[in-house]
Amino acid sequence: MTDHYAVVGNPIGHSKSPIIHRLFAEQSGQDMEYRAELGDLCDFEEQVADWFKSDLQGLNVTLPFKERALALATKKTSRAVIAGASNTLRFNSKTAELEADNTDGVGLMRDLQDRLGIELKHKRILILGAGGATRGILGPILEAHPALVALTNRTEARAVSLVQSMQIALGSCPLVFNAQSELVQHHTAFDLIINATSASLKGEVPPLPPGVWAEQTVAYDLAYVPSGETAFLAYARQQGATKCADGLGMLVEQAAEAFYWWRGVLPDTAQVLKQLRSALAK
Ligand code: NDP
Repeated sequence: MTDHYAVVGNPIGHSKSPIIHRLFAEQSGQDMEYRAELGDLCDFEEQVADWFKSDLQGLNVTLPFKERALALATKKTSRAVIAGASNTLRFNSKTAELEADNTDGVGLMRDLQDRLGIELKHKRILILGAGGATRGILGPILEAHPALVALTNRTEARAVSLVQSMQIALGSCPLVFNAQSELVQHHTAFDLIINATSASLKGEVPPLPPGVWAEQTVAYDLAYVPSGETAFLAYARQQGATKCADGLGMLVEQAAEAFYWWRGVLPDTAQVLKQLRSALAK
C-alpha cells in the first residue's frame, strides 16, 4: 500500500522537497507519494489534523509554520524542543501521537562536516540572523565544541532574546551576541561565517564589517540559488574567502534525516544532491 507524505508552507511553489523525496523513494524502493500543500495562515492546525486523519503518515513543515507545528505535537524530540520549532511531523499509529522533530541542524552539520570536511571544534563561528533557521542550527553547532559562537542580526533585540533563550536551553556554552559596532571594535576574523538570514533570497547581503573576514574564513549560506553563488557568497569571495558553499547540500541532508525518521532508511544524499544541482541549473 502506498504511504503518503507532504510538505506544507506558505508560499510553497518554490519547494524542492517533492523532487528530493521522490528521488529518495526511487533510490530506496519505498512505496510512497509526496506532495506539496499550501498552508492556510488562519486554519493551519485544522488542515494538519485533516491530512493526518485522511491519508498522511508524515509532513515536512516550512515557513512560516515551524513554531505552530511544534505546538501541535504531543511528543517532541529534544532537538525540536531546543530549536522551539519543528520541520518534520509524523503520526505514530501505535500510540496515536503526533510527533515532532527538527532536522535542520543535523542537515547543516552533515553538509558542513561530512561533505565539505569543515570541522567546528575549537573554531570561531559567526552566525548572521536570528530567525527559525538559526534556532534549528544553533544546538548542533554548540554541541560540536566551537571556541566561540557569535550571533548578529539586523534587529538586535531578536538576537539578544534568542541568545538568552538558547543559553537557558543549552546551559553554559560559548554563545554571545555581538552588535555590528562590537564586531568592528574587536576587529577579529572568524573561521566560519554562516549566513542564516533570508537576505540572499532578495539578492541582498547582510551588513558586516570587513574585519570579520580572513583568507581561511569559510562562508556558508543557508540559502541556495541555481548557480550556487548567492549574493552573500559572491561578497565573501570579494572579501578574500576561498571556501564557500550554499545551502543546497543542507536542504538535501535535512530531507534525508526526515526520510530516515519516517521510513528507517537513510538515502544516498550525494547522488540526489548531484541530480538536484543539475536540475536547478537547467
Ligand atoms: P526567518 O524569516 O525566520 O528569519 C529571517 C532572518 O533573516 C531574520 O534574522 C531577519 O532579520 C534576517 N533578514 C531578512 N532580510 C534581511 C536583510 N535584507 N538583511 C539582513 N537580515 C535580513 O527565516 P528562516 O530563519 O526560517 O530562514 C532563513 C534562511 O535560511 C532563508 O534563506 C531560508 O531559505 C534558509 N533555510 C535554508 C534551509 C536549508 O535546508 N538550506 C533550511 C531552513 C532555512 P530581522 O530579524 O531583522 O527581520
